[in-house]
Amino acid sequence: MVSWTGFSKKIPAERWDHLEKNQIISKEGLQRLTQQNLLPLTTANQMAENVIGRLALPLSLAPDFLVNGEVYHLPMVTEEPSVVAAASYAAKLIKRSGGFTAAVHQRQMIGQIALTGLVDHEKARQTILKQEDELLAAANAAHPSIVKRGGGAREIKVEINEKFLIVYLSIDTQEAMGANIVNTMMEAITPNLEQLTGGQSLMAILSNYATNSLVTAQCAVDLRYLSRNKKEAQILAQKIELASELAQVDPYRASTHNKGIFNGIDALVIATGNDWRAIEAGAHAYAAATGSYRGLSQWIFDREANQIIGSLTLPMPIATKGGSIGLNPSVQLAFDLLENPDAKTLAGLVVSLGLAQNFAALKALVGSGIQAGHMKLQAKSLALLAGATDQQVPQMVSQLLQEKHMNLEVAQKILKNLD
Ligand code: NDP
Repeated sequence: MVSWTGFSKKIPAERWDHLEKNQIISKEGLQRLTQQNLLPLTTANQMAENVIGRLALPLSLAPDFLVNGEVYHLPMVTEEPSVVAAASYAAKLIKRSGGFTAAVHQRQMIGQIALTGLVDHEKARQTILKQEDELLAAANAAHPSIVKRGGGAREIKVEINEKFLIVYLSIDTQEAMGANIVNTMMEAITPNLEQLTGGQSLMAILSNYATNSLVTAQCAVDLRYLSRNKKEAQILAQKIELASELAQVDPYRASTHNKGIFNGIDALVIATGNDWRAIEAGAHAYAAATGSYRGLSQWIFDREANQIIGSLTLPMPIATKGGSIGLNPSVQLAFDLLENPDAKTLAGLVVSLGLAQNFAALKALVGSGIQAGHMKLQAKSLALLAGATDQQVPQMVSQLLQEKHMNLEVAQKILKNLD
């Protein structure tokens, strides 16, 4: 078993040694990491338009996530201090309490075609449903390679919505997120639908509300890991349960609750080269599925088992193929660290990380508060911004924390006195 004690205190070169010695990274991956040439300009220029450079962000590792009985080390791309530390801390407590279970309920993407100008919506709906097999065959004929890979169009649903007749096509896109696969299929069946119904298509496009790609992560945390003091641990557990309830009833809190979840989710989604806008859009729509925006996770204090039990469900149409995933060498590095999971496994890891992040945030919020930790990290950022060297940072941080008000000017003054 690999020990991660002290990993956070190491410098990056020592962390590379740790990854190499413990065979957590391949030789090729290590080379990519140490050469720091993670995205050639020529490749960047193929990925977007009007490219003039690349923007770098920290790539971190949150080690030791126990998910469905396997240990994973999660690459995280984030510029926000404390996110990776919080995720790693939560992963440690959750591993000691038995780890995460992650379940992928289904993995299909949904495309929609909105038809207008219809006289009899109900009749049009019946006509479409009678032709379901033919329409599915036409959709599959438009993208035969995904059918060869075991995927393809699976089901048609039709909804009547005042001015619109909306046709939803559910598609198994296998390892891809499937935007282009879905859009190709939707456009292919548009003329058939117009002919069948006499209506006109307003648009034919993938929906990011991926309700056929729901994933649930669950975990328990033993009360003894909340605090050594039994009474204090119970109070914390009650407060975490209450905080979870607050996020169900107050959208102001729910928004921040979910932002915390996405601190983790986005970091892994970005590291794996996935479309984080798509995942955010789907999850926020899901958070409002009941008609009011609510927290995506829930925590219950199991007083008999002496555990706090967390659960997070959201759409997670994450991909291991397609888009820029194969193009970007730093993304390949992330897959290397993850030991090349398939899309369903990766989806489980992403949602587990979101739950871990949520746990750490709630524990800090209802316990010591998050400001103490944040101020320390803020002081570190200010010290670096003022120009402190690595050696000067610890002293700068402790002096800054004693100041009534911390800002760059104060940091610069302290640094001047250190020189
Ligand atoms: P691609 O267009 O890259 O298509 C994925 C391709 O990967 C497939 O067509 C398939 O090609 C190939 N592939 C190889 N192996 C597999 C496998 N095992 N399973 C599935 N496919 C495999 O990507 P997507 O269609 O997934 O679209 C994602 C991109 O679309 C992202 O960049 C996203 O940002 C963008 N996008 C998003 C939108 C949205 O979210 N609303 C809208 C429009 C675009 P083959 O089978 O032919 O080899």
